[in-house]
Amino acid sequence: MEVCVIGSGYVGLTVSVGFASKGNSVTSVDVDEEIVEKINSGNAPFFEESLDEMLEDTTDEGLLRATTDLKDAVGNSSIIFVTVGTPSKEDGTIDLSSVKKSAEEIGQPLRKKDDYSVVVVKSTVVPGTTEETVIPILEEESGKRAGEDFGVCMNPEFLREGRAVSDFLNPDRIVIGEYDEQSGDLLSELYEDFDAPVLKMDLSSAEMVKYASNSFLATKISFINEIGNICKELGIDVYDVAEAMGYDERISERFLRAGAGYGGSCFRKDVGALIKSAEDIGYPLKLIKAGVKVNERQPLKMLDLLEKHVGDLQGREIGVLGLSFKPGTDDIRNSPSLRVVGELLKRGASVKAYDPKAMENFKEVYPEVDYCDPEEVLNSEATLIMTDWGEFEELDYRGKVIIDGRRIEKAKETETYEGICWS
Ligand code: NAD
Repeated sequence: MEVCVIGSGYVGLTVSVGFASKGNSVTSVDVDEEIVEKINSGNAPFFEESLDEMLEDTTDEGLLRATTDLKDAVGNSSIIFVTVGTPSKEDGTIDLSSVKKSAEEIGQPLRKKDDYSVVVVKSTVVPGTTEETVIPILEEESGKRAGEDFGVCMNPEFLREGRAVSDFLNPDRIVIGEYDEQSGDLLSELYEDFDAPVLKMDLSSAEMVKYASNSFLATKISFINEIGNICKELGIDVYDVAEAMGYDERISERFLRAGAGYGGSCFRKDVGALIKSAEDIGYPLKLIKAGVKVNERQPLKMLDLLEKHVGDLQGREIGVLGLSFKPGTDDIRNSPSLRVVGELLKRGASVKAYDPKAMENFKEVYPEVDYCDPEEVLNSEATLIMTDWGEFEELDYRGKVIIDGRRIEKAKETETYEGICWS
């Protein structure tokens, strides 16, 4: 099928490469010329496991190309995905300007198209957005009717950064919110050889599935962090507790790793948007809000433990291992490390830091940090472990002061070791 994907970020490029790898002809669109050039030369603009190889294969085979020419791409596609960013605004609502702009720009070539095509919103948008915001813009700009002259779907994406390609190609489920049956049927065809149940529903329900899923997962992390905090006070190892809890199929072992809190571009943004939407209709989400509070406090526990071991931080040299919000990615958006490093600098410490992938991105926020190799970081007066990169299990921690926010087993070899939620 001829597919066009508007927005070539973490989601858009992964989706483009994924559909191209299934033999579809995909055009990846972005406003950023540098991103487009990189993609066309077979280089992903960000790090993601196996993305570079697949990008090279699909561009070489002529199945994927990138462009800034949205009109041309839409004109030649039967399925048009919108995967642009929907960042948080100060009040917690999402910024829909890129989604609206994309809808406007899609509407113009849609006007001239003779054949039926489906516009699919894949960006995460609050319930009601596709129906109340996107469709009216498409109809206005194209002069055509949704559900008659063109189709509309909402198809939330559940991939995790760090495993984006594999998650996209092997989803647990495919959720298709359809404006009408014909729209959903065409999108289902594109997913035909994916081995996952396809769940069809209306547009708003599909939008809500994404928010409910992310709010649940974020709250689950805060739940185990809270249990971890109390376990530490009681001298109990929360990892033993979580392992035993995880055997219960109703609970599952996943997302039960207590630590320094969650980060990333999605959880905080999506949870915040759901909280705001609920507030707007007069229903405060007490449980979900409490989870956010726990998460905001959690990284600061690392500082409390650090001060317990080394005292006042003014003029001290502190190491930080891990800057990305999780292993496998160079993404630092909302990373707990941002909060911790910011606080270290504020309290007068100098910071040495290492991350296998995220140092360049972090440098843009904190140029004053000394970025160096992990051995040098470990020579600081004390080191905080903020991301569970596999390679941190290979380091020599003997003789160091370690505050561990991610349960790196090898780090326990040092005498002065303390875990955030365990001893
Ligand atoms: P991103 O910021 O990495 O990428 C967005 C891309 O869209 C950028 O490259 C930007 O240049 C481009 N863009 C912006 N306006 C454009 C326009 N008018 N035309 C063409 N390109 C345009 O964002 P992302 O992380 O890929 O997220 C995209 C959406 O998917 C968001 O709604 C996000 O919540 C959702 N989502 C993200 C993840 C994730 O793990 N990152 C997972 C699931 C869903």
